[in-house]
Amino acid sequence: MTTEVRQAALEAPRPVGVRRWWPRGSAATDDRPVQHEMTPHRQVQLLWLVTTFAVVAVAVVTPLALHGAKNGLNTDTQRLVPASTELTNTIGNYTAGAAELLIVAQSTDAATRSDGLNELTTFDTAANAAWRNYQRFAANLPGETKLQTRVKLDTQQLSAAGLALLTTQTNSPAAVAAFTAVGDRQHQDLDQIQRLYQARINASVTSADHQFNTSQAALLIVLTMALVLIMIGFHIRTHRVRRRERIQVEGNRIVKLESGLQRALEMAHSEQDCYTLMQNAIQRNSPSLPSEFLVADSSRAHFRQVIITGAEGGPGCPVMSPYDCPATDRGQTQTWPSSSAIDTCPYLRDRDTGPCSAVCVPVSIAGQTVGVVHATGPDHDPPVPSTTADLELIARKTGERIGILRAFNRSENQARTDPLTGLLNRRSLETAVRDLTAEAHPYAVAYGDLDHFKLLNDVHGHDTGDRALRLFARVLRDSVRPNDIAARYGGEEFVVVLPDCTIADAYAVIDRVRARLADAQHGGTVPSFTVSFGLAPGEPNLAFGEIVEQADAALLQAKAEGRDRVILAGQHDQTPDPGSAPKPAPELHATA
Ligand code: GH3
Ligand code: MG
Ligand code: MG
Repeated sequence: MTTEVRQAALEAPRPVGVRRWWPRGSAATDDRPVQHEMTPHRQVQLLWLVTTFAVVAVAVVTPLALHGAKNGLNTDTQRLVPASTELTNTIGNYTAGAAELLIVAQSTDAATRSDGLNELTTFDTAANAAWRNYQRFAANLPGETKLQTRVKLDTQQLSAAGLALLTTQTNSPAAVAAFTAVGDRQHQDLDQIQRLYQARINASVTSADHQFNTSQAALLIVLTMALVLIMIGFHIRTHRVRRRERIQVEGNRIVKLESGLQRALEMAHSEQDCYTLMQNAIQRNSPSLPSEFLVADSSRAHFRQVIITGAEGGPGCPVMSPYDCPATDRGQTQTWPSSSAIDTCPYLRDRDTGPCSAVCVPVSIAGQTVGVVHATGPDHDPPVPSTTADLELIARKTGERIGILRAFNRSENQARTDPLTGLLNRRSLETAVRDLTAEAHPYAVAYGDLDHFKLLNDVHGHDTGDRALRLFARVLRDSVRPNDIAARYGGEEFVVVLPDCTIADAYAVIDRVRARLADAQHGGTVPSFTVSFGLAPGEPNLAFGEIVEQADAALLQAKAEGRDRVILAGQHDQTPDPGSAPKPAPELHATA
């Protein structure tokens, strides 16, 4: 990059950050990444919706299922169980009746037979009653009607066989066998009906069990799901709230830092104050962070280190100029994760302190990027984003304040000085003298006037006259002592106030000005010219204006005595310097 290009780049206003913007419905939207991510708020809403739906579904379905199971069991309990019980009674009565009949049939004792017959009748009546009860509760199970018909037939045949047994009186084994066979068959048929009922009761209980279990399982699953969803929702919600809290805390911290820094910087009245504040701010926020602030000098070509924090000597970036620093060159914060990365900053590599990471924040002063805050961290572990944000804030605020101070100093300087010569103007001189008087410093006053300056202007032009004035101002500035106050009093007239010196020393200083003016013109670009001075010693009881008047009177005498000399006020008997007798500037006349 050439120097001009660098300079242009340096002076150009730099964008703080590039923000992409895609107009609604424009072709540029093709580049935009499609966002499918649901916001945490929506996620929580969806979870709550699903949970509510599941809970309502379970709340509705489970009681219905349980109600159905209960109804089924009720029906079965009301019909099947009584029918089964009556069947059992029927079987018992028939069995007992049959046994009694066998006893009666085999007995020849009249009393026994009579009792037996009575009991037989009782059993028979009970069996018939039980059978009728069973039929009242009968549930018409598959095959049941057929079995009932068979039992009815069996009962008829049993009655016939029983009658045959009683009437034969012979205790015939054939009749007993016939009776027993019919009884067994009836018993079997009744057992079969009983098994039908038992199977149906078992099936009903199993079904109810199954429905209960299924409902329970569904309830458990949905409640577990609801619990999980509630926990997920709670987690997301908590996470979101915590994140919001973190952002708020961070925001409050930044606002506090910014307002504190702002207030402190408003009280800083010099660049050095600003540097000190910057150092304090960095140290307070990141006590162990090794950092430094490099700022360009007035030529804007060379960096100088103005603050360091953390390690002794600071991070020690060897970059020499803002033109070479990637951060100031690009005008954007640069983060370098590792000094060994291929694309790292060249000034980060091979440092004596070993591998490291770094962040470099450019600093703009009065719209020009002329500084950088450079901070380092462990290799592959650069300063965290919040630290970088702090550095950016501190750099921005400090740069703004330095810019304001520089602008203020510039305008103050402009108001204090004469634009052509850079010397103090008359008003600033009077202010400076007021300060001297207030502090009771004695001073001498020299009043100088360039000789034949009108002629110089007339002959060589006003521009040449201006150059001569600038040359004289430079000579005057370089020849007086640091404490002396030199000012352009008006036109080609100058006043020098020389505090805290004897009149002899003052004379020597002013005469040195006169002599050096001659030296400065050797081979110079302006025509030769001289200066005359009147010098007045300060009197404690005299005002500045009165001393100036005395010096002016001495100046007039110097003019009268031939110019290019220094005359002390009140010494009219001074012997004129023969080498500087009155000169009408013949060489000027010659060129005129
Ligand atoms: P003398 O030796 O008696 O002082 O002669 P002189 O010509 O210097 O006298 P005078 O004071 O009359 O002339 C002053 C001249 O200084 C007049 C004016 O043209 C010139 N002058 C005053 N201010 C400026 C300035 O800012 N620039 C230039 N080029 N000339 C100035
Ligand atoms: Mg004059
Ligand atoms: Mg003059």
